[in-house]
Amino acid sequence: MDNGTRQLIILGSGPAGLTAALYAARANLRPLVLEGEPSSTGDQPGGQLMLTTEVENYPGFPQGILGPLLMDQMRAQAERFGAELVAAKAVRVKLQDEGPQTVWYRDPSTGEELQADAKALVVAMGARALMLNLPSERRLLGYGVSTCATCDGFFFKGQHLAVIGGGDSALEEAIFLTKFAESVTIVHRRRELRASKIMQDRAMANPKIRFVWDSVVTDVLGDTKVEGLKLHNVQTGEEEVLGVTGLFVAIGHAPNTDILRDQLALDERGYVLTAEGTTATTVDGVFAAGDVADHRYRQAVTAAGSGCMAAIDAERWLEEHGG
Ligand code: NAP
Repeated sequence: MDNGTRQLIILGSGPAGLTAALYAARANLRPLVLEGEPSSTGDQPGGQLMLTTEVENYPGFPQGILGPLLMDQMRAQAERFGAELVAAKAVRVKLQDEGPQTVWYRDPSTGEELQADAKALVVAMGARALMLNLPSERRLLGYGVSTCATCDGFFFKGQHLAVIGGGDSALEEAIFLTKFAESVTIVHRRRELRASKIMQDRAMANPKIRFVWDSVVTDVLGDTKVEGLKLHNVQTGEEEVLGVTGLFVAIGHAPNTDILRDQLALDERGYVLTAEGTTATTVDGVFAAGDVADHRYRQAVTAAGSGCMAAIDAERWLEEHGG
């Protein structure tokens, strides 16, 4: 390998990418981390925690911590041990068994396309929650609008809430939210649910859950917090205002794996496939961590854990392949 080839490149700077960076830096691999760039599709350097406010389920912070602050701390910790962070997004990759792995990215200041090569690569670009794409929804994200009931449900004790969607996620979130909320209204754009029968039965049997059918949200009301939703019935054309103080959007997630298509194996939904119990992908020397390979748990702490695994897997792989 020529001198320009690094040991390790990490794509992504959420909990998975930065934990991989921390471990790799402490193993003297001097990783290059391409942090990503904000985009209209919800990509975000620092990952989805940059779009939240208080995080109360990340271990070690008994009083909770703001999502962006937690990510600042993770970033500083990785940099302290020598990780090189660049505020740029990979636009293309060329992956091959045993490397080198090549990544192209745009220089953040000049816009010029740059190339970086490494023996090993960790992909940790995360996933994004699909959104309704309303300006008011975006503005109130973290202020009553959420995409994660497990993370935020606790803040909505005794309130009236709405969940949007008709799939398993929407029903699961709604059922979870009834632990805290006074009521949960599931707003679905059709009359039939997509969710599994068992989830439908559970949701229908829950006295705190009610359904509004054939309806879409056209606006989220409130300046600094959610005060209601404007609904449009797609069958009758009627408009109504739903008086809720929390909105949970649960219309699915999409992994940020566009640049990986045709380069390594993805499942039918676009998530990176990894070998059972490890972070190894189908390309030898390429490892995956966090939500890019996980549609099940999707938590900051599980992403961080798999980032640690990816760095250890990469380090061992490098040792076995001549360091
Ligand atoms: P999903 O199955 O794709 O369902 C998305 C839902 O959101 C659908 O009902 C869809 O409506 C609605 N939707 C999509 N875009 C919308 C928009 N712009 N406006 C309003 N509504 C919109 O996604 P998911 O529920 O996240 O589930 C993903 C996968 O994970 C599924 O295979 C699911 O079974 C699985 N999962 C399983 C569990 C479990 O077993 N406990 C829990 C969570 C997820 P339409 O129905 O009209 O398309």
